[in-house]
Amino acid sequence: MAKIIKVLKGTKDILPQEVEQWHKLEKNALEIFTKYGYKEIRTPIFEMTELFARGVGDTTDIVNKEMYTFEKSERSLTLRPENTAGVVRSFIENNMTRLSAPVKLWYKGPMFRYERPQAGRQRQFHQVGVEMFGIKEPSADAEVIVMATEYLKSLGLNDLEVEINSLGCPTCREEYKKKIKEVLKPEFENLCEDCQNRYEKNPLRLLDCKVDSCKEIFSRPEIQKVIQSDFICEECAEHYKTLKSYLDKLGVKYVENKLLVRGLDYYNRTVFEIKSNNLGSQNAVCGGGRYDSLVRNLGGEDTPAVGWAMGMERLNSLLPEIEPQKLDGYIVSNSPADAFVFAQELRNKGYNVEFDLANKKFTKQLEKASKCAKFALILGEDEIKAGTVSVKNLETSEQVTINRNEIEL
Ligand code: ATP
Ligand code: MG
Repeated sequence: MAKIIKVLKGTKDILPQEVEQWHKLEKNALEIFTKYGYKEIRTPIFEMTELFARGVGDTTDIVNKEMYTFEKSERSLTLRPENTAGVVRSFIENNMTRLSAPVKLWYKGPMFRYERPQAGRQRQFHQVGVEMFGIKEPSADAEVIVMATEYLKSLGLNDLEVEINSLGCPTCREEYKKKIKEVLKPEFENLCEDCQNRYEKNPLRLLDCKVDSCKEIFSRPEIQKVIQSDFICEECAEHYKTLKSYLDKLGVKYVENKLLVRGLDYYNRTVFEIKSNNLGSQNAVCGGGRYDSLVRNLGGEDTPAVGWAMGMERLNSLLPEIEPQKLDGYIVSNSPADAFVFAQELRNKGYNVEFDLANKKFTKQLEKASKCAKFALILGEDEIKAGTVSVKNLETSEQVTINRNEIEL
């Protein structure tokens, strides 16, 4: 026998028995986001590598360690590790700035990151996300957060925690960065390698470190004092305060977390995550924030923006299992041509029906019908002659014979 080829590490098939849950994730996304005026956008799976280097940021894990990059015709291309950069590229390229603000977009699809596969972490995974362009007011931040919680509610997921923080603007953050560096300087040698590397370029990211020894250092009182200090400027503070007042009015519960800095370089002011207590260590289902400088950095006009992305595998693992749908009818007959014609009639009426393509014995067909359908539709010799069908309700075992064109399932 020929050698079997297996699915790659960190990738997974979505099998027919799970696909209805995925349909639900997608259907609810379309329904909910449409209510808020968002339109779906689909961008290519691969883009120029430079888009992600500039768009995601070259101090991030994604760009430094996790990208699937390859050469073709002397160009460096990359499988998208996230979709914000692609959406922003398309926004600029298609001149969407000329549309009246806000421009509201959503997406879903596969993303690729070369990470260590584990529960809740794959190399090909799926995200659903939203991006809103053109509004600098905190009402936009509030709208995308509310949409995220409404989407989760529509999936029956209520046991989730929204965490928010404000990273301030580049100006007020500079001072904060300096203070963080200062207070951590004596501990530099004791920080993990990643933290040492980030210390100069992106000291805020240190707060996000998951290494226990680093966490211990950051929990010390003198360091906590700096981390917990209010560093953001008056305008940023006003933005943050107004966002919180919107969330309060709309009944969105949240906790403030000063350690929440998010892995991507482009955020300013609002950042947020939504976490579940039922996911183990990979517990974030949603991450997002405001990224007012990204459109400009990628060559567009200055345009404020805010958005988020959710991991669909993590959402999927929180959903209750959905019973696979049964067929409306299964035609039981030893005349395959008549069965085929009848099946087409019913399909054209909108019913889901099958018949036995292999024309097995009558009893086998009945057995199959009782497993996969709500009704057995029996077309025996008598029924075919008379233009009737015997309809057997497979739950109650009731059976009636009616004219074929009067059937209602
Ligand atoms: P994490 O802290 O889990 O690595 P992240 O900060 O890298 O997340 P984002 O890039 O903001 O995450 O992506 C948003 C969401 O996408 C995450 O909250 C998570 O639900 C999901 N996600 C990210 N990476 C993966 C992955 N490798 N496999 C499955 N889901 C993922
Ligand atoms: Mg990550």
